[in-house]
Amino acid sequence: MTGDPIADTVVAVTGASSGIGEATARLLAARGARLVLGARRKDRLDRLAAELVAAGSHAVALSVDVTRRRDVETLVETATNEFGGLDVLVNNAGISKIGPLSDGDVDGWSAMIDVNLRGVLHGIAAAAPVFRRQGHGHFVTTVSTAGLKIVPDMGVYAATKNAVRTVMEALRQESTDGVIRTTSISPGFVRTELDGSIDDPVLRARIRSNMDEFGLPPEAVARAVAFAIEQPPDVEIGEIVLRPTVQG
Ligand code: NDP
Repeated sequence: MTGDPIADTVVAVTGASSGIGEATARLLAARGARLVLGARRKDRLDRLAAELVAAGSHAVALSVDVTRRRDVETLVETATNEFGGLDVLVNNAGISKIGPLSDGDVDGWSAMIDVNLRGVLHGIAAAAPVFRRQGHGHFVTTVSTAGLKIVPDMGVYAATKNAVRTVMEALRQESTDGVIRTTSISPGFVRTELDGSIDDPVLRARIRSNMDEFGLPPEAVARAVAFAIEQPPDVEIGEIVLRPTVQG
């Protein structure tokens, strides 16, 4: 199409209904990628897909809860049915039910494990066979600086993100035949709707104020995703860490 290496690539994005996933979808669509968008808020996804299609892009939206293995399989199948394959899976959906361990919020911990870790595993299980069949494919996963600098209140969230980092490194080492590329992207504070999943009102207000005060725009993370994807097939960007310059 344009000589842009991203043009015509087929990219599925989980958590595309807001924040980093939405910004990634917009940027990749503008560069000619064909998109399959998944999240639970189907109304938001439909609006986004309609906007992208009206602007001349190819985009399909479907209701996906990443905690359900079958939903994630359907996301991958939709890419192969609609566009003949899947080049990149952006495993981005995530929630942040943060709080001190002393709260004993087992339900919140379980929810984070289900979305942030199990959801990513569902993506790997669904897309890896397609990648192997095609002879190429790329997993891009949104991790977090919360896993790099451990701070109070974010222990279990950070643990889910570090579990994913571990899985991605294992996947990299199991994929040195050149078929599968893996990229973990760790953003610091980004101005998104992630605070919406925090149940504790005081913590939620603190995170919201950090996001508003110095958070990166989600487009900054989208550019990092595009950078990883646009590399030639023999170049694997394993890790990208990006923070607001003022973040400690
Ligand atoms: P948002 O809350 O704006 O986006 C999160 C996305 O995940 C939404 O599209 C949401 O869609 C989706 N999602 C949540 N639960 C599920 C589920 N069960 N199944 C499918 N989709 C789901 O926040 P961000 O854009 O910030 O979050 C994106 C990723 O970035 C997350 O993994 C987050 O942990 C990570 N991150 C964010 C940082 C930040 O400061 N914002 C910093 C570091 C990492 P819906 O509700 O419609 O399902």
